[in-house]
Amino acid sequence: MSRFVDRVVIDATAGSGGNGCASVHREKFKPLGGPDGGNGGNGGNVILVVDGNVHTLLDFHFRPHAAASNGKQGHGANRDGANGEDLELHVPDGTVVLDQHGEILADLTGPGTRFVAAQGGRGGLGNAALSSKARRAPGFALLGEPGETRELVLELRSVADAGLLGFPSAGKSSLISVLSQARPKIADYPFTTLVPNLGVVTAGESVYTVADVPGLIPGASQGKGLGLDFLRHIERCSVLVHVVDCATFEADRDPVSDIDALEAELARYTPALGGDLADRPRVVVLNKVDVPDARDLAELVRADIEARGLPVFEISTVTRAGLRELTFALAKIIEEDRAAKPPVTPSRVVLRPTAVDDAGFTVADDPEEEGGFLIRGERPERWIRQTDFTNDEAVGYLGDRLARLGVEEALAKAGAVPGCPVTIGDVTFEWEPSTPAGIAMTMTGRGTDPRLDNLDRLSAADRKAAKLARRAHIKDEDL
Ligand code: GDP
Ligand code: MG
Repeated sequence: MSRFVDRVVIDATAGSGGNGCASVHREKFKPLGGPDGGNGGNGGNVILVVDGNVHTLLDFHFRPHAAASNGKQGHGANRDGANGEDLELHVPDGTVVLDQHGEILADLTGPGTRFVAAQGGRGGLGNAALSSKARRAPGFALLGEPGETRELVLELRSVADAGLLGFPSAGKSSLISVLSQARPKIADYPFTTLVPNLGVVTAGESVYTVADVPGLIPGASQGKGLGLDFLRHIERCSVLVHVVDCATFEADRDPVSDIDALEAELARYTPALGGDLADRPRVVVLNKVDVPDARDLAELVRADIEARGLPVFEISTVTRAGLRELTFALAKIIEEDRAAKPPVTPSRVVLRPTAVDDAGFTVADDPEEEGGFLIRGERPERWIRQTDFTNDEAVGYLGDRLARLGVEEALAKAGAVPGCPVTIGDVTFEWEPSTPAGIAMTMTGRGTDPRLDNLDRLSAADRKAAKLARRAHIKDEDL
């Protein structure tokens, strides 16, 4: 069997930021000019973009790994590194983005709608940007941050106005082909029978889409056959159309029980996008009335079905009888539903929810280190990633930033004692709370062991310089 392509798992890897450069301007007779290291470029993002000309997720099935390019490193003479390029992945209208746990992150509808699947890493600042009155010639630069890597599930939930339901051979595909002028691109794929067939119908002023939902059989809501996969596609439909074959006789089947069997499946299905299929308008199409026996049967069951409150249309896809009436009736329901819904703004940008602790950080007991503490927060964790731990000055700058954020104070309040292990990101320090910036930490994780100077050993001038430095760097707190 052909592989199913309306659900794919992709790996999106954004580009890393380039490292900042630590460099000192050189000129003849001026051996020690100012710092002139440029900033690293930002890494490229991986972005999903809704494209009206893309109808399946087939491409991702064959190429599930997507990576944007890295930012370039900064250079001397204040040359910044180039930014990495964004990678745009074109997805069909109606693509739903989920995380590995099945949580819906975004519902992408409307051509041009964009979603950042993986955020590029920020480039590190060069020493020119890090210099200030107090730190005239920083001997360090910030590292570029790694790009985000995310595993995402993409599911296509077609944006069709009308969904055709019916047992195999009821005539759904035939109906779409006689209703619609446009032959969707989908037909080019060998997957046609497995991909919902979409047709565009014009009825007077109205234009709408009709999707064939194959494989809806009893047991579908439990995942039998292709059931659940295809039930996804009818979630957005304004109207559901039962297509019933009146020409085929089977001992245990008749039009009314066929409808009941499919209704039972719909009732068991919970739409992931919310809402309820039960309140979706329905119509019943009795098909193949060009066959005399079929016409007789249709006449026989019509009253029964109408008694359930369902409008009935007798049609033939062969003679095209009853089609006009059907298309206009569907148009009316769809237009009413459209009028009731909020309009879809094209080119919407779907923003990823930002972390709630973006402004600060949290202190908690470290479950992995006895008596240790765990600092969590977007900025402290980012600063750790930006720090070159082989450079004492860079580590001092990190201590400065953490102290300014209030990490030291919060640790003390939480009951941290000198020497206890404090973990931020993937680095663990020994807490040494008595330095100019208010925090001193001794690394136990990796790199060298850059013990910072003690506050007591600092002169008044140094203290003042540290204070100035703090003030001067408020501006790059968010970098
Ligand atoms: P689907 O499985 O629901 O998509 O059904 P198809 O559209 O593939 O049709 C199944 C069979 O029914 C095909 O052989 C069609 O030619 C036939 N068929 C469809 N509509 C009509 C109709 O109105 N009259 C007659 N006589 N046969 C039809
Ligand atoms: Mg079919």
